[in-house]
Amino acid sequence: MRIQSGRINVLVLLAMVTQATQLLAQGGESVRPLRALMIAGGCCHDYPKQNEIIKQGVSQRANVQWELFHGGTDRDRTLPIYQTEDWAQGYDIIVHNECYGGVTDVNYVQRIVKGHTKHQVPAVVIHCSMHSYRAARTDEWRKLLGVTSKRHEPGGGPLQVIGRQLEHPILQGTPPQWKTPFGELYVIEKTWPNMTTLATAYGTQTQQDHPVIWVNEFEGVRLFGTTLGHHNETMLTDEWLDIVSRGILWACGKLDDDGNIAAGFQGSGKAPILLPGIAAGPQGEPTPAEQ
Ligand SMILES: [Zn+2]
Repeated sequence: MRIQSGRINVLVLLAMVTQATQLLAQGGESVRPLRALMIAGGCCHDYPKQNEIIKQGVSQRANVQWELFHGGTDRDRTLPIYQTEDWAQGYDIIVHNECYGGVTDVNYVQRIVKGHTKHQVPAVVIHCSMHSYRAARTDEWRKLLGVTSKRHEPGGGPLQVIGRQLEHPILQGTPPQWKTPFGELYVIEKTWPNMTTLATAYGTQTQQDHPVIWVNEFEGVRLFGTTLGHHNETMLTDEWLDIVSRGILWACGKLDDDGNIAAGFQGSGKAPILLPGIAAGPQGEPTPAEQ
């Protein structure tokens, strides 16, 4: 018994030394993972698999712990999580990957935005989040997004993404241009003050460049946005996962001006994304282009 307890003590001591060494390596700070809430669901996209792609892919690249709220598939559904204006309280970041273009309740939409501004919780907004709440007669959501988009171009083919602010911390380490495997290009009809375009893609129908990656600041809230991401194949690329992970870190103030990740907020390391046994949701259908 004495030998066993001695061995246990040695193990405990070793664990303490290892932890102390890690803390010293991180500059002596005790680091807790970023607490992220992902809100997903709605029309037209394979959210069951996208949830896993984002959770696993981001945590490989940034020290993020996830909670998930997955709503239903109806585009006009309102979610119980947005019931009070304190819904975002306690989280470091909210990741919106939702597609609720049919919602018309103005108070509800304003409450979603208030959740961010009241508690200064940054946001990451992905693809159909930009077409969500377009039927509501308020621009509050679009002010938070930094862009107004109500339709997408036809097609579905690859998009050539061109970096426009190559010195921005979020774009460090990614190629200045890359091609997505598939694409659904959102037409950006208006950009709002304090929005900065980081990358664009050319629309063959509108014959102009559209922002596809950007940052925004609204009433003190940092936001990172990308309209890329209709297809799972696009989300699974290294470029997409790198950019979104760095967008989360930037929004949370964990990237310095040179793009270095703050000590302790690196991820677990890149690895294949595992999707066994996850039933696919709707995919391949275009998001309704008009209300
Ligand atoms: Zn889509």
